[in-house]
Amino acid sequence: MDIDFKGKKALIRVDFNVPLDENYIVKDDTRIRRALPTIKHVLEAGGAVILLSHLGRPGKKRKEDGSIDRERFTLKHVVDRLSELMVLEVQFCDETVGEKAQAMTSALNPGELLLLENTRFNDGEKTGDENFAQALSELGDVYVNDAFGTAHRAHASTTTVAQFFTEDCKCFGKLMGNELENAKKVTDNPERPFVAIVGGAKVSDKILLLEKLLDEADTIIVGGGMAYTFFKAQGGSIGNSLVEEDRIDVAKKVLSLAEGKGVKFLLPQDSIIADDFANDANSKMSASGDIPDGWMGLDIGPYAIQAFQEAIQEAKTIVWNGPMGVFEMDAFANGTKEVALAVAKATENGAFSLVGGGDSVAAVTKMNLSKKVSYVSTGGGAMLELLEGKVLPGVKAIETVDSVEG
Ligand code: AMP
Repeated sequence: MDIDFKGKKALIRVDFNVPLDENYIVKDDTRIRRALPTIKHVLEAGGAVILLSHLGRPGKKRKEDGSIDRERFTLKHVVDRLSELMVLEVQFCDETVGEKAQAMTSALNPGELLLLENTRFNDGEKTGDENFAQALSELGDVYVNDAFGTAHRAHASTTTVAQFFTEDCKCFGKLMGNELENAKKVTDNPERPFVAIVGGAKVSDKILLLEKLLDEADTIIVGGGMAYTFFKAQGGSIGNSLVEEDRIDVAKKVLSLAEGKGVKFLLPQDSIIADDFANDANSKMSASGDIPDGWMGLDIGPYAIQAFQEAIQEAKTIVWNGPMGVFEMDAFANGTKEVALAVAKATENGAFSLVGGGDSVAAVTKMNLSKKVSYVSTGGGAMLELLEGKVLPGVKAIETVDSVEG
């Protein structure tokens, strides 16, 4: 953020897409907190701040008459929390662009903070519409993108708007910069051994990541529901465990590529199986490739935990995406917890560890281990795409040719 913000109006795209309760009170303010350093930096440097964000999916969840549900999706719901956290009055404009937005932004003084209405109230947001983006750009002197969580979307306020600012008038915010820097530690020449832990429900969601990791990682650990498609591909019996029949060939291909490339590919050799998808189901241990009919694998077993822990202890770089089991149910949270503890221990011993992508982040947070790993990403889909090796549109829109190459 080496722009001089003094006397400037900074249009900052943040990610305030926070969960709300039934009274529209912010349930989890993590995303607001993560945006504060950038906002404070601009205000302290003598600038004024105009915040842009989306909230929810107003275009999809419309009212019965087809109109936007403004009451439900207004960003006004975050004003009080933001004011409390900033210890500053936050002005709110119930327009994103238009005469009122122009008047309020042009009246803004240095040190003042204004939040504009939900960008997704305008149909042009998701289509990346140039007219909408240009109207947004006219509200500020400089553009700062700090919305890592939506950097993989080529939307008007995350991507198109940047083209209306010259190179010296646009930059990443602190959160975005941090996310990119930490992802690079994993994607660009990671210190070896590089151990990747991939879990969660579906092979189909993680196949691009696995393909990329086959070229980059020394060891790939696979757990969670997706493991059973691999056991089925190997000819095992998996009972009623989660399986993607149409991905069995893909799983076979991944297994043979791993062998050909000399990548250690660790599947959970044993599982905790249950006779129902419920916390109070009957459960027992089983070999993962020999699960009886009527039973399903819902967590990794003790032998798998030990094998995974040993591999994790050797790592110098760790990336973790996706839980090892149905961690939301206490009865099947142990594998995810033990893996989280192993990642924390390896980090304490000097490894770099990045936890990125939806549910593994929730798991590490639930287990109070966020501070014991090197970095917890705020962007699920965006981090997954970075790890898959993609260039995110929101990143490309800011980076100059020089900085991409250099
Ligand atoms: P993902 O969003 O792909 O990382 O998947 C996370 C979800 O996968 C969580 O809600 C877990 O409960 C679920 N999950 C993990 N392991 C299993 C399993 N063995 N069977 C069914 N669901 C699972």
